[in-house]
Formats: sequence, C-alpha cells, structure tokens
Amino acid sequence: MKPGHDHDTGAPLVPLDEARARALSRIEPLPPADLPLVDAHGCVLAADVAAPMDLPPFTSSAMDGFAVRAADVAGAAPDRPVALRLAGAVRIGSEAETVVGVGEAVAVPTGGVVPGGANAVVPVEQTVPQADRVLVLTPVPAGRYVRRAGEDVSTGEVLVPGGKRLLAADLGLLASAGVASVRVHPRARVGILSTGDELVEPGSPLGPGRIHDANATTLHGCMLEAGGVPVALGRVPDDPAALARALADAEGVDVLVSSGGVSVGERDPVKAAFGAGYDVEFLDVAMQPGKPQAFGVVGGRPYFGLPGNPVSVFVSFEVFVRPALMTMMGRPTGRPEVTATLEADVAGPREKVQFARVRLSRSNGAWLAAPTGGRQSNLMATMSRADGLAVIPVGVETAATGASVRVMRVRGEG
Ligand code: AMP
Ligand code: MG
Repeated sequence: MKPGHDHDTGAPLVPLDEARARALSRIEPLPPADLPLVDAHGCVLAADVAAPMDLPPFTSSAMDGFAVRAADVAGAAPDRPVALRLAGAVRIGSEAETVVGVGEAVAVPTGGVVPGGANAVVPVEQTVPQADRVLVLTPVPAGRYVRRAGEDVSTGEVLVPGGKRLLAADLGLLASAGVASVRVHPRARVGILSTGDELVEPGSPLGPGRIHDANATTLHGCMLEAGGVPVALGRVPDDPAALARALADAEGVDVLVSSGGVSVGERDPVKAAFGAGYDVEFLDVAMQPGKPQAFGVVGGRPYFGLPGNPVSVFVSFEVFVRPALMTMMGRPTGRPEVTATLEADVAGPREKVQFARVRLSRSNGAWLAAPTGGRQSNLMATMSRADGLAVIPVGVETAATGASVRVMRVRGEG
C-alpha cells in the first residue's frame, strides 16, 4: 500500500490538516448585527462598548439608615449618644429634597440618594430614632456606607471589551448602564438536510430496509451546542435535482449542511448534483470515520456535504463544521483537550487519523480513556456513551493499552 492512499480502495487521501484548511479557507466571521441584549446572549461583542454613564449613576446609601456628617458623630458611643435633628427622609427612586446641615440627619433607604452635605451613613441598627431627632450610638468615618457615583465604572471607560463572548454577567452590566442593544457577531443559522431513499422520520414505522433519520437530529443538537441556530430543511431522496433544489431554496440560513450521498455509490446524489459546474470539492480525507467529504459554496452560501454514517456525521461536524461555525460567530475554534491513558487497545487504519470514541474518567489526578465499543461508523450507541474523541495519528496501527493519547472533549457545549 502506497503511503497516503486508502487501504481499502487504493485512492489517494488528503491529509486531515490540509482538508480542514481547505474547508475553512472560505469561511469568514458573519457581518456584525445589532441585537437586543436578550438575543445577544452567547454572542461575541464586535467592538468595545464604552460606558454611557457612571455606575452607580449617583451617590447612594449602602444601608437603611441616616445620612450624616461624619464629623458630627465622631464622639458618639452607646453611653454617650449624639442627638441629631431629623431634617427629612429620602424616598427610594426620588431626588433628595433636603440637604444635611451641621447637627442634622436625613433618613435614607438602601439605594436612596445621599443628600448634599452628608458624607456617611449610620445604619439604623446603630441609632435610636425618635420623633424629630435620632440618637447615634457609634461614629462612622467619612464615606462609610456610601456608594460613590462612578466607583464601579465611570463614564467613557470600556464597559465590555470587543471580542468578549457575552454571558449573563456581561449582559446585566450592559443593562445596568442602560445599553439596550449591542453589535455582535450573530449566531450562525445552519440549514440541515438529510439525503437518502431509505430514511424515515423518527416516530413513523419503518418499512423493509428503511431506517430512521438520525443525522438530522444529531446535527440539530450539534448546532445548538455550538451556539448556532439549526434550521431543519427535512429529507430528500437520492435525487440530485431534489437535493440541489432543497439547498437552493433554503431561506434565512448562513451555511448549509447535508448528510449522506457523498461517496461513490451509483445513487449518491451530491456529486451528481454539484460535481460539475459548481464550486464544490470532493475529498477523500485521511480520517476515520468520515473519509468522504464535500465542501464548497452552493447558492452563495458555504456548504458542507458530510457522509451519511451517523458516527461519521458526528465526527465530521467536530472536525469541519464546528470550527466553521465558530469562525463565523467570532469564537475560538478549538475544543478543550486532555492527554489520557488508554484503558484498552484501539486498532485503526495506519494511513488515517482515527477518531476513537472514548469515555474519560479521572484516576489519581490523571485522565483515563476507555473505548466505548467497535469502530464502525454506524454504531451510534458507542457515540452516545462517549464524551471524548481520542485522536490516533497517522502511522499508528494499534494504540495499545497504557498509551498516552490526545482526547478532544466533545460532549455538550465545551
Ligand atoms: P451514504 O453516505 O448516503 O452512503 O450513507 C452511509 C450510511 O449511512 C448508510 O448506511 C445510510 O443508510 C446511513 N445514513 C445516511 N443518512 C442517514 C441518516 N440521516 N440517519 C441515519 N443513517 C443514515
Ligand atoms: Mg445515502
């Protein structure tokens, strides 16, 4: 067998890194869009947002108590309380109507405006309120229990930096500054299509030789976990014209993904539809599972034609589609990885990178990787049981028990 050629068919193979580089070469970040805060969750901010106001916006009390002049109460003690004249009360949500003069106090709630003249707040617990005066039992230094305007963020400072992925705390901060919408890289909307004469909707009875369409649902979940928006385009039979029409007619999507029909079978529709006159390339990639791949541009949108086997779909998504979506959404493309010790032998094709389904566990501070079953790409339960893909490089025929392997953690959002 010549190196770089498929063991089974003798066909030349494209190295994985080269295939990935080619697939991603035409992918660019989506143009930024202005989104209301609640729709921007999980999106990457396109540029710095400067604080349009001070936070907190005005000087307020941190306690329910009395706004005072610190100097007036410097000598206060439980047995020598200082009596201050009660000059008024501040209501939460309103302007302070009174200033605090020498020998005076104004009642303030938590979050109420600290009136002019006052420079500290005595908590209510350290006072004895009376009809028109208040006895203060302890001194408070200047500034105590006062939230100064702008002490968190001042006007014009960077509130949230561009490039940051907006999560709950960031959105709350923006909201507190009165920002209602932000310019972000939007979520990629992904059209998902299944091809195959044999496919039946889950929930419908299977006729002879038929199988349920698993890939549409797998890909739907993959898109959600990547932070994209799945758009179901349904199923088409193995008919090139139907495939081309379904992809061309897809509305409101930024990228197209189909599964099945990219290999050399007589009825495989992808090559028949896009083989000639289209900007779509067909590669045999040096990877297992997921060797046959198609990618290019269809109807002005990036297109990924994945193979049909369910595990190939899952692995191809991780290797090609997820990095593309992340690039479109302005996010880092990699998955977290760990180095783990194999708990059983993993045999694979020497000429391909093998992505072996494994379950990770921790033992004495180290990672262990247990293969979840056979390596055939139709075995979906082995995928469901796995939380990682061990990457067995080209040139390795058997990665033996005890060997160290690199494992991509692929379950969930990552
Ligand atoms: P293909 O790439 O179309 O030759 O399909 C390869 C294998 O994957 C065949 O056994 C198909 O029946 C199976 N397959 C294709 N599409 C799906 C799908 N959407 N769900 C489950 N299995 C599929
Ligand atoms: Mg097929």
